Amino acid sequence: MGKIQSFFKTYLLIELVKGLALTGRYMFARKITVQFPEEKTPQSFRFRGLHAQRRYANGEERCIACKLCEAVCPSLAINIEVAQREDGTRRTTRYDIDLVKCIYCGFCEESCPVDAIVETRNFEYHGESRSDLFYTKSMLLAVGDRCEEQIARDRAADAKYR
Ligand code: SF4
Ligand code: SF4
Repeated sequence: MGKIQSFFKTYLLIELVKGLALTGRYMFARKITVQFPEEKTPQSFRFRGLHAQRRYANGEERCIACKLCEAVCPSLAINIEVAQREDGTRRTTRYDIDLVKCIYCGFCEESCPVDAIVETRNFEYHGESRSDLFYTKSMLLAVGDRCEEQIARDRAADAKYR
């Protein structure tokens, strides 16, 4: 019985007809391919992309050098050094993130008590060597300055669900 079935399947090109029917169905279905980079897929306001350090509106950096982010980071990607200012406040003298080590878990931004370290929506960055993905404090602050409007909107949207 199996041999007869196989004979008819082969000579009546049943499998080929099935394959063509499947192709035909998808030819007229709604296309879901996105033409990146001209077209983008929707992003969540909780998207975890490139990190940024934020400032307050008066230009003062938010980070109070509590080191919680460094302690919580599971991949030991964050390195912080701290000094006390003349006015008695604590500030970082060094704040680096090695993005090669980072697994984009978001623990650093979750742990930050002053919303200083955040992950932006930016995923379009790359490095040609490991050192290109070693982000220093000034680089992180520059990302924050560039993206502050979007970050503030995303944090406000996020706060509604907490
Ligand atoms: S996202 Fe996760 S792995 Fe990356 S720096 Fe933050 S805590 Fe570390
Ligand atoms: S970024 Fe936030 S959690 Fe990390 S040291 Fe600064 S204030 Fe603390």
